[in-house]
Amino acid sequence: MSQYCNYKDHDEGKIIGVCTNLNCKYRGGLCINCLKEFHRNHSQVYLLDLNGLQQNWQQKFKTYGKLKSLQQHFNRVKSVLDDMIVRFNIEVQEQNFENYSLSKLKDLTEKLAYLGLIEQYINPLEDLIQRIYAQIKSVKDLSIIQLRFSNELKSDNIYLNIEGSIASTSDESFGFVLCETGVNKESQVQEFTFKILKMDWIALGIIHKDQVPSNKKKFDIWENSQHGCYLIDSLGKVFSPGETNNSKNKFKLKKDDIITVKVDKTKKNVLWTNQNQQQLEMMEFDVSQSICPMVCLRKSDVQVISQT
Ligand SMILES: [Zn+2]
Ligand SMILES: [Zn+2]
Repeated sequence: MSQYCNYKDHDEGKIIGVCTNLNCKYRGGLCINCLKEFHRNHSQVYLLDLNGLQQNWQQKFKTYGKLKSLQQHFNRVKSVLDDMIVRFNIEVQEQNFENYSLSKLKDLTEKLAYLGLIEQYINPLEDLIQRIYAQIKSVKDLSIIQLRFSNELKSDNIYLNIEGSIASTSDESFGFVLCETGVNKESQVQEFTFKILKMDWIALGIIHKDQVPSNKKKFDIWENSQHGCYLIDSLGKVFSPGETNNSKNKFKLKKDDIITVKVDKTKKNVLWTNQNQQQLEMMEFDVSQSICPMVCLRKSDVQVISQT
């Protein structure tokens, strides 16, 4: 490759390959210094030289071909449905049948007879299409998901779906789940984004990793203030270790909210922002211990969207 690295102190090193790791923020072209500095802990499968890139491209091109073939299937489905709809051509509610001519009446009864014939097949087809749509949509969303909920660090009443990107519970009692990737120790500022899909009660934020409750059933953030969490909840309560635990604020969570939790180790604060740019800042967060994004929930669904 004839490109050169533009990272500072890499002396415009020659680009020798690429990193394809979705969890790596330096993915893309890399020089020998990039390899040592940014990608040294990766599995080899993510690091490709020029030959590897060529092979990978050919293989992925086949996957792209399958995607296009899927699109063609749906175009065929659409054209069949278009045909059926044009054939009926029913625009307005039919009425005043007593004034119909004999040929118009024949035309109408043809349509009714045919609709009667297909009636029983329409409802199951609708269910099927809705299921297919939901699955394709979640496969599409996979490409923007970089952070996942942890299957181990959660209470038993929480269920994970779509590669661990959605946490759900229909349980009346409190549950919690942590995300798999914690805050990178080297990184001073990190952001996590969540979307609230369904809500009865939810709290969002971070927890000190070594304070993850061993007795998952007895976890308490209300009475006991030594819980190691920095959370805000849907009722407008703020939870943090110490005297101000369980205090009131104006920031509330609601269904369809997209919430970004920003952890800044240099400022020692945690900042929550919603899609309307409403913000809540919590100061004096203990930066000495490693932390993890956390969601607590009751009868709710949350999707984790991204990490930067
Ligand atoms: Zn470099
Ligand atoms: Zn990498």
